[in-house]
Amino acid sequence: TGVEALKVDDTPRARSKNLDVLKEWGSAEKKNEANFVVIGHVDAGKSTLMGRLLYDLKVVDQRTIDRYRSEAEKMGKSSFALAWVLDQGSEERARGVTIDIATNKFFTDKTNFTILDAPGHRDFIPNMIAGASQADFAVLVIDASTGSFESGLKGQTKEHALLVRSMGVQRVIIAVNKLDTVSWSEDRFTEISQQISAFLTAAGFLSKNITFIPCSGLRGDNIVRRSTEPELIAWYNGPTIVEELDNSEPVTRALTKPLRLTIGDIFRGGVQNPLSVSGRIESGSLQAGDALLAQPAGQKCFIRSIEIDNEAADWAVAGQNVTLHLSDIDPIHLKIGDVLSSPSSPIQNVKRFTAKVLAFEFLMPMQIDVHRGRLHTPGRITEIIAVLDKGTGAVVGKKKPRIVKPGAIARVVVDLETAVPLEAPGRVVLRAGGETVGAGLLELGL
Ligand code: GDP
Repeated sequence: TGVEALKVDDTPRARSKNLDVLKEWGSAEKKNEANFVVIGHVDAGKSTLMGRLLYDLKVVDQRTIDRYRSEAEKMGKSSFALAWVLDQGSEERARGVTIDIATNKFFTDKTNFTILDAPGHRDFIPNMIAGASQADFAVLVIDASTGSFESGLKGQTKEHALLVRSMGVQRVIIAVNKLDTVSWSEDRFTEISQQISAFLTAAGFLSKNITFIPCSGLRGDNIVRRSTEPELIAWYNGPTIVEELDNSEPVTRALTKPLRLTIGDIFRGGVQNPLSVSGRIESGSLQAGDALLAQPAGQKCFIRSIEIDNEAADWAVAGQNVTLHLSDIDPIHLKIGDVLSSPSSPIQNVKRFTAKVLAFEFLMPMQIDVHRGRLHTPGRITEIIAVLDKGTGAVVGKKKPRIVKPGAIARVVVDLETAVPLEAPGRVVLRAGGETVGAGLLELGL
């Protein structure tokens, strides 16, 4: 992990085509790429809505749905068939919840989308953090049915919204779902929109980045197909969920920054490719033959070949989700959450950092787990430097306070048990005892 390890030989292997990747990218046919995360209270209808979206866009075929439907009926949960499009594992089906981040892709004429599905259960929030850290925007699903909205808002809805905002997500599309259960009531839609707007703006979202869409995932109204329900179209003729998704601005790609890729998944044991990793390129670019540095292990490896959407590619740039087939490295040196960077401008491992965090709970010198995407590692808040004004960032009250109240912003020092690859500006989430206690911006690795 020290300087020694960073002095690796980064001359490309013979297999490199020595392409000017940015030039290739400049002349390539481009489509917008957007990753989004789906958030909301458990049972809000997230899986059903996304299943419906994939079904109506013909990403899944009728036969698959029919098979799911008959399986679901056998289990006495017929309405779950659509949700199963997303929940692939049978264990998840038996429990009726979405557990891990199921990645699903679909595309419109304008955009290639990746859904980073977020589970609604409390103990699964670390997965949501991983999803949100790669998301360009969030789809927040709200259950509009009587009573459910109120309990959901007190439940995970607020925590999820705060979390995704803390992870840097700026735009949110709100699916005001299950509107079929309240006779497509405009009053109900307005009431919900006003309350959600109030707390989203309080959480730091700008009003112009918040859009509300009345819909029903189960029936498929305003998901892909515009609703024809007379009671709804009497007062709404705005975009569907997919139309609104397609409105997303092209992602800004940090193409010229040094290469950073956080490993989201590792595959071992292929005959041709014994070791492969996948993830989204956060910044920079890469090509087959390039040398990479894997941190925190400080081990060098090479890119044998690249796949994008199951097709071989010579190169890839920031914003793309890729699978890299690697060589010259022992798998024991790689874990999910590790970071691949270019040996010439590597990411450093840090054991200590300062961060500007929004406190969700009381913060004081305490044990915590630090999450950054899929990386999580134990550590401790060792010092509270100051509480800061939310608007100006100026120090409020005395320096080195002993405690930070929920809702306040503070600059803190965190010491980790082991050094991990982290750098500013980056988003971190602090958790303790299964709860999110704070989230914010890593400012300085020490
Ligand atoms: P998740 O936990 O947020 O993924 O929620 P699910 O997609 O599993 O849905 C929870 C329950 O709500 C299931 O019984 C669904 O059939 C039901 N549901 C989902 N969407 C709608 C909808 O638009 N209208 C109605 N009436 N029920 C829905």
